[in-house]
Order: sequence, then structure tokens, then C-alpha cells
Amino acid sequence: MKVKFWGARGSVPISRPDCRVYGGNTTAVEVVSDGGCRVIIDAGTGIRDLGNSLLAKLPVKIHLLFTHYHWDHIQGFPFFVPGFIPGNELHIYGQKKGEQDVRDILNHLMSPPNFPVPLAIMGAKMVFHDLQETGEIVLADDLKVIYGPLFHPNGVVGFRFESNGRVFTFLTDIEHESEDEVSQSPLNLSLNADIVAYDCQYTPEQYPSRKNWGHSTWVSGLQLVRKAGAKSLYMIHHDPAHNDVQIDSMLKAARAQADALGVTVEAVYEGMEFEVGSPSSSD
Ligand SMILES: [Zn+2]
Ligand SMILES: [Zn+2]
Repeated sequence: MKVKFWGARGSVPISRPDCRVYGGNTTAVEVVSDGGCRVIIDAGTGIRDLGNSLLAKLPVKIHLLFTHYHWDHIQGFPFFVPGFIPGNELHIYGQKKGEQDVRDILNHLMSPPNFPVPLAIMGAKMVFHDLQETGEIVLADDLKVIYGPLFHPNGVVGFRFESNGRVFTFLTDIEHESEDEVSQSPLNLSLNADIVAYDCQYTPEQYPSRKNWGHSTWVSGLQLVRKAGAKSLYMIHHDPAHNDVQIDSMLKAARAQADALGVTVEAVYEGMEFEVGSPSSSD
């Protein structure tokens, strides 16, 4: 199973000279099983470049999974070019919010006066699927996704990808509910994972003044990874106010504690790609 991050920034896309290492695009992650089953998590602004990279591989069948519908996770969708090309197939998964399902929400995103081109014009075959509170989806013989709720304003879904004995867990826009205890749902999703990608938006010093904003710290990320018996913490959803130097220093602080726990830590950057379970990603 291969993973590539096309956006690592949280909250809002940015572009500044001091943020070029970790990048400015928001969440879009490509997961491809050994057998070639292709998943995209979220349609933040990173999905634009991701989509363009697929133009050499058409036609494509893609499973697009939405964690939730905050702007930084949907805003790139209208710029996902493969969605406009007949012959491609898009299976789109997301939770209902009140009366609106994922199709209604994307329809709204692509309606005047917010956007001039309607969803109905997109030429790819689109199939919409509701996600429940928790569940399991078998996408291919070699790719299963298990999902469950995380603590975040308006709700969010965390995903666990299992493929050929390897596990990649993706927990964005999560806030820890307690300083002392790890919540059951993220713990279940992270059990014995090779990699847990976890929202580490704030430094431990910043967090107290940002409580209930829906994001977490590397301290809570390490606590979760250790309790779950997982191998590696990947820091994601970088704060738009943090430059490369600040993220480097958060990574250094996290590694200083992680070494004693036998856990590795990486800070995800835009363009980062790896094979889950390979020496560079899990040792
Ligand atoms: Zn977000
Ligand atoms: Zn959010």
C-alpha cells in the first residue's frame, strides 16, 4: 500500500516563502493498494495537483472518502479535472449532515453564486455512498477501510486502511477529549497500525488557549500511538501560522519524547510519499 500526501496544511491554504518545505495546500491524500485500488481522502486544495497527476493514467476508478465538509477538506473538488472526463468512475463517500447527503453538499459547493459550473456537468460516472457513524468498506480484495467518529466540531470520520497485513490510520481534525485518557474510537482505529497520521496542529503551549477548536498536539498523538501499540506518528494538518522552522522544532520536540517510547515520528510535507511498512516509514 502506497500513500502520497498532496496537501499537509490545515484550516486554510497558504503560500509564503517560509512555508515551502511543508507546503500550503490543504488535505488531499492518495492511498493505492498493491493491486491498484485507488483511494483519495478529502478534496482540500491538494486534490487539484493530484487530479492533474492522474491525467496520464486515464481512465481511472477512484474512491473519494470525505472525513467531513469543512472548507479545507472540500474546496479543491471543483478543480479535480478527472471528475469532468467521461470514462472515469468516482465513488464518493461521506456522512449525511442533517437532511443533506454528500451529493447535496457537493451540489451546494458547486452552485452560484459560489461557483459557476454545476456538479451535474461533471462527466465522470459518479456513485454516492453514505457513511454511517461507524463501519467497514471492502474496496478491493486487498483493501479494507474501517471508520469511526472522532471528536471535532460538526463531527468527523477517522479511517483505518488495511492492506496485505499493513495498516495506515488517518485521523485528521481530531481533538483529544481528555489529557489523561485516549478515546475509544481513535484507539480502535489505531491498534497496531504501522502509521497513524494525526492532527498535530498546535504546540502543547498553544493548545490551552485553543481548546474545543477541534485540533490536537503531538503530545496527544504520541499518547494515542503508544497506547495503540502503533509504530509511527505522522504529524498532519499543520497550522497556517506555523512556518517550516516552527514545524521542524515541533518535530524535534516530539522525537525527543518518542525515542524513549520506541516510536518514530515524521512531520508530513506536501509531496511526501511512502510505502506503508517499508523501512523508511516504519523503522
Ligand atoms: Zn481541517
Ligand atoms: Zn474540520
